[in-house]
Amino acid sequence: MDTRLLELLVCPICKGPLEYHRPPQHERNELVCMADRLAFPVRDGIPVMLESEARSLDESASVDSPK
Ligand SMILES: [Zn+2]
Repeated sequence: MDTRLLELLVCPICKGPLEYHRPPQHERNELVCMADRLAFPVRDGIPVMLESEARSLDESASVDSPK
């Protein structure tokens, strides 16, 4: 995925910055908004910036280290 494109991406809800999570550090390819606790999926390299498609981090048993 183009990292320049990534820099332009902000959360569609709060307009805040997103973290790009990807294997092997993370289980999935997704763009995470820590403010909203939502993860937007990246499908075939295309970010899906739809709230209806986003995964709530609070509902998952994340293996990421807590902050
Ligand atoms: Zn947000």
